Amino acid sequence: MSTIAFIGLGNMGGPMAANLIKAGHAVTGFDLVEAAKAEAKAAGVTIAATATEAVRSADIVVTMLPAGRHVLAVWTEIAPSCRKGALLIDSSTIDVDSARAAHAVAAQAGLQSVDAPVSGGTGGAKAATLTFMCGGEADAFARAKPVLEAMGRKIVHCGPAGNGQAAKICNNMILGISMIAVCEGFALAEKLGLSNEALFDVASTSSGQCWSLTTYCPVPGPVPTSPANNGYRPGFAAALMLKDLKLSQEAAASAGAHTPMGAAAAALYERFAEGHGDRDFSGIIEALRSGDL
Ligand code: NAD
Repeated sequence: MSTIAFIGLGNMGGPMAANLIKAGHAVTGFDLVEAAKAEAKAAGVTIAATATEAVRSADIVVTMLPAGRHVLAVWTEIAPSCRKGALLIDSSTIDVDSARAAHAVAAQAGLQSVDAPVSGGTGGAKAATLTFMCGGEADAFARAKPVLEAMGRKIVHCGPAGNGQAAKICNNMILGISMIAVCEGFALAEKLGLSNEALFDVASTSSGQCWSLTTYCPVPGPVPTSPANNGYRPGFAAALMLKDLKLSQEAAASAGAHTPMGAAAAALYERFAEGHGDRDFSGIIEALRSGDL
């Protein structure tokens, strides 16, 4: 079992740290928010006074923070205090350029590192069923894998530094675009007098089928577990979808990729998230129906 430091004990990091404890690891944690620290403490995490103090005796350091600037600031702060041979893992969703810069901070301090963003949301964080998409050297990934297995079900090595973040934002760009496509299909069907059930029965077994339709259907009825049956309570909040679409567009601009549908999806979610950022991202169908977008 490993000695692990966990920095960022929020909605995702808190339950992830708790699962490391359940798997028998010794976890020392730090967050800026008292309530997050208290909840982690109740789950068995030892709370340190600073991030630097948390990492001093750790073999593995996990960060779960809001954005690239937080990850770079924390990794720059802690790297000089990490033990020789420690492995840094960042599971936040951040821009690819910051992820690669964070790897460079670790390398400069002689530390191995992995970017390991997740999908699966807070439900997956609690149930330890997250998917981890990892970027980094093969031996760093091999060290990270058993630790990530205590928090997730599927651990994928996507290639060198930053490729975990690249996989995450490409997947979520596909998701944002496909959700809007499915919503437009249902909104048009309604105007044409076609029932939701009839469109679902056809499209779910035809060439229009995709996850946004068959697992997360944005209208009530066909998929009883989808947020549409629950007043569009998240699920996956529109604000988080907007964050990921913006990251995809930053990456596209930085890499010189042409993603016009990704740009359109980002613009639509930007408008939807104004006032509806805390609704599930499939709730965008209501704004499309009403002509607000
Ligand atoms: P959150 O805001 O609940 O948690 C982030 C935590 O980081 C907060 O508790 C904050 O106090 C702490 N923090 C910020 N700066 C810090 C610092 N310098 N030192 C220590 N702690 C610091 O956010 P979350 O929902 O847990 O998301 C975390 C990351 O996971 C984000 O990058 C998000 O995009 C990603 N993510 C979230 C979900 C989701 O469903 N919530 C799903 C997949 C990925």
